[in-house]
Amino acid sequence: MTTLVGISLTGRRVVMVGGGSVAARRLPRFLDEGADIVVVAPELSDGVRELVERHALSWMPRPVRAADITDAWLVHTATGDPRVDARVAAWCERRRTLCVNASDGAHSTTRLAAETRSGDVVVGVVSDTGVDPRRAARLRDAVASLLRDGRLPLRRRRTGGAGRVDLVGGGPGPADLLTVRGRRLLAEADVVVADRLGPTDVLSELEPDVEVIDVGKRPGHHPVPQDEINDLLVDLARQGKRVVRLKGGDPFVYGRGGEEVAACLAAGIPVDVTPGLTSVVSVPQAAGIPVTHRGTSVGVHVANGQGELSPSTLAALADDSVTTVVLMGVAALPRLVAAARSAGAPEDRPVAIIERGHTPEQRTTRSTLGRIVADAAAAGVRNPAVIVIGDVARAGLLLPAHALAGDASR
Ligand code: SAH
Repeated sequence: MTTLVGISLTGRRVVMVGGGSVAARRLPRFLDEGADIVVVAPELSDGVRELVERHALSWMPRPVRAADITDAWLVHTATGDPRVDARVAAWCERRRTLCVNASDGAHSTTRLAAETRSGDVVVGVVSDTGVDPRRAARLRDAVASLLRDGRLPLRRRRTGGAGRVDLVGGGPGPADLLTVRGRRLLAEADVVVADRLGPTDVLSELEPDVEVIDVGKRPGHHPVPQDEINDLLVDLARQGKRVVRLKGGDPFVYGRGGEEVAACLAAGIPVDVTPGLTSVVSVPQAAGIPVTHRGTSVGVHVANGQGELSPSTLAALADDSVTTVVLMGVAALPRLVAAARSAGAPEDRPVAIIERGHTPEQRTTRSTLGRIVADAAAAGVRNPAVIVIGDVARAGLLLPAHALAGDASR
């Protein structure tokens, strides 16, 4: 029978007896934990030598002696010689020191679990009798993949710990375009502060008692002012909650994520940012538009349609070697087009507007600078939409003409 215990080895003496491939495989685990490691072996394999040098580990370049284990909490013996390993195990038994015996796993006092980590959770697999490392590793991998997807109940049940805020970029909409880390942070969250855009579907998969606060913004409408959102994040974290601030796209692209991070830092709240797929790149891509393309566009200029048109935006609009991508730009379209014309952009420069990219309602309107205002009005183009101006927006840039059938534009 085996009892699985969690031992913290940080700062504690671990003696590795042996310097071969098993030692090389196992040492990183003890290194990760910050154990005080001593290696005892007449010779080292290249892998162990590298670890010893890189981490300045103590190495006794000689055969093992009973005195070597005196200060150890844990001994791992992997000399390749079962008799030596058995002798080390016997010394440990006498001294009541935990010992992993690589040549006789089934009978050693201690077995290392096949481990996986997710946030601050550690899950380990060991066998009760005998050893079956392959089975343990496969089980561990299966659990790891469930943990990674956020499909297991990772949320802390015991409150009172320190609160924190994670800004999570949700990508353009579909749940499977959210990062694996974002998914896990959502599974750990006590409260989710969400926008209108982004992967709202994942919210319905959260446990029923996870609080969801919608502070959704639309261009021109700000249901919850930004400074109130900042205060809310700080207040929730101060209550000891794990807060996920779920944002559409990437938190740092027109998402005011910088202000939220600054507010948390100013209040002394631990805060981190998980990137997301920004609509700048992913929404054009959903319509088959690469924002850069060899021979067509060497760079991308990104602009906010709600703001003033900067000189750099005007320069980009006039430059046929770069792509201009405008977010929040539907209302500003006439102004944008007028500015592009007066900056010298030709009437036939391709323009594409992609509404609700990566959703079932995705629609692409393709036109040219000269005609886009009328075409967009006729089509009834609405936010959220990404406007792409430049040669990459030309229909058929990548696809043969017949493949464009079904594209609502043209
Ligand atoms: N942080 C976000 C952008 C926020 S500003 C990001 O990185 O994507 C909001 C604007 O993003 C919208 O007005 C629209 O221009 C664009 N947008 C976001 N998601 C979109 C989608 N699925 N389809 C079209 N446009 C989208």
